[in-house]
Amino acid sequence: MTLSGTLYKKARHQAIVDGEITGVLSLVCDRCGKGFEHEVDTRIKLTLYDIVSKDKEDLDIIEFLDGVVDTDYIVESECNAIEGSYHYCDACEASEEALEMEF
Ligand SMILES: [Zn+2]
Repeated sequence: MTLSGTLYKKARHQAIVDGEITGVLSLVCDRCGKGFEHEVDTRIKLTLYDIVSKDKEDLDIIEFLDGVVDTDYIVESECNAIEGSYHYCDACEASEEALEMEF
């Protein structure tokens, strides 16, 4: 998984990551349990802080309190988010669409 894009400072304690994560993730289908490869090409825009941010509601915030931006961590948390969501393999995706068409 690769993170590409730009990182720029926005304010004293605030930086913006604007880019995309691309690569291939090995996932397990939530329907049939089969492992499959999922091509990832996701745009990200995150706000980074080197202080504890007040805006706890915003999910697109990552705190790096030591001031060092760990891009591996950004990629990892993004991958975890994808892995944690529902995903069907291509075969199940196709049969799901076919089912919907019957209604
Ligand atoms: Zn499946």
